[in-house]
Amino acid sequence: MVNKKRLFARAACVSVIALVCTAAAIPATAGQKLLNASFESTTDGFGARSNETVARSNAQAYDGSYSLKVSNRTEAWNGAAVLLDNGWTSGSTYAFSCAVYQSSGADVEMKLSLQYSDGTDTQYVQISAGSVPSDTWTVLSNPAYEIPAGASSRYLYIETVESLCDFYVDAVTSEIPTQYAKGDVNHDEAVDGKDLREMISFLQGRQAVVELDTADMNSDGKINAIDLTILRKHLLFPARYTTTTTTTTTTTTATTAKPQLQPGQWYNTADVSWINGRKTVALSFDDGPVSNDNANRIHAALSKEGFHATFFYIGKQINGSNQSEILKAESLGFEVANHTWNHDDLKYADQYKIETEYQQCKDKLNSVLGVNRDYLVRLPFLGYSDNVGKYMPAPCPNCGIDSADWNRATTDQIVQKIKSAAQNGSLNGQVVLMHETEPASVAAVEQLCPWLAQNGYAVVTVSEMFKVNNKEMYNGKVYNNCW
Ligand SMILES: [Zn+2]
Repeated sequence: MVNKKRLFARAACVSVIALVCTAAAIPATAGQKLLNASFESTTDGFGARSNETVARSNAQAYDGSYSLKVSNRTEAWNGAAVLLDNGWTSGSTYAFSCAVYQSSGADVEMKLSLQYSDGTDTQYVQISAGSVPSDTWTVLSNPAYEIPAGASSRYLYIETVESLCDFYVDAVTSEIPTQYAKGDVNHDEAVDGKDLREMISFLQGRQAVVELDTADMNSDGKINAIDLTILRKHLLFPARYTTTTTTTTTTTTATTAKPQLQPGQWYNTADVSWINGRKTVALSFDDGPVSNDNANRIHAALSKEGFHATFFYIGKQINGSNQSEILKAESLGFEVANHTWNHDDLKYADQYKIETEYQQCKDKLNSVLGVNRDYLVRLPFLGYSDNVGKYMPAPCPNCGIDSADWNRATTDQIVQKIKSAAQNGSLNGQVVLMHETEPASVAAVEQLCPWLAQNGYAVVTVSEMFKVNNKEMYNGKVYNNCW
């Protein structure tokens, strides 16, 4: 029985954001084999690099009956080589693979390498490498290796790092990389439940490897709940999705490490790079998701100015038809947050009730977004108690400025209140309480966003406001502003 083992050359872990533009142009002949050396009837163009012996042999074979035996080696770089002729273009990306075998009795480090001329000097670069156990066919491969631009006199060759043992080579291939379908998260050439599980695992921060080019369903350079939703639809209605994508080696793993936090300290991951030193105000909207156009209008008014806000959703109110509002908020960079499951006043609640109200809503939001994380919580009716302070497992942004939309404030009154605060210098750093159920607030936001932009404000999420002002938040603590 032949032992076979695969080794893959993979790119190092890289951040998601850095990969926005990594997909290289790919020829239309994707998947075409340029080299397919099996050594069944000839040496397939392979020869020695020096005085070593390179000859066909039927003593060992990975595929078929023959392989190529390399013996009488006096240098580690002695090996089997083949010219990469006009079929390959320098500066382009190709898949390379070969099977190697040695029976020295010990592991041997082996390499698949490229020799080329850069016009001045001869260069030697590694395409793939690995430890090859004795008496085990081992595959060295790289699914996407870019031949350096300007390279001429290119030879593909197989060598060892130190050992001078004999070895066998078989199944040497090179091809134009395959195009993978969007949604083929694991690049196994099928879009199926395995891809969905990999993506969920990745989003939940568990050990997972996703291929960025095919997991980023909407090609926005990020992998998040939006991509998960699209992939779910993709699996339900495959005929509607025919996008393919170029292959890249840009795999990523979920390895974001949490910094050292104080007990109860909120893990604030907000990106504040876009705020650019402006004054900040955190508009916040309670009681969604709603089943009318209010959310769309609020989202549009904010997005038009590049602004963000925080939305506190009531868990039990979320259903199949309105959960898209939450996904949309997430995709626009808004902060999805927790307004408890039942929207009960927690003023007289015990530990169990407080924790359950938070947890149930959290679980619902996580299932909608396909993530595993915690959320800021807005206390229903702003009902606070010592128990809330003790047991609520998240910070509680409260109300620095009350729009009073819940108490029939008109659009004009709300707009005036915010403008006055801006004019008397008290708006900066405040949490503003509004409701997405209230049309007066919707219209007020449409008027206020352009005005705030003109007056040097950025409308931000609660987390962004605290982050940009270097203020920490703690679980169970109420915050009217970030000062
Ligand atoms: Zn409420």
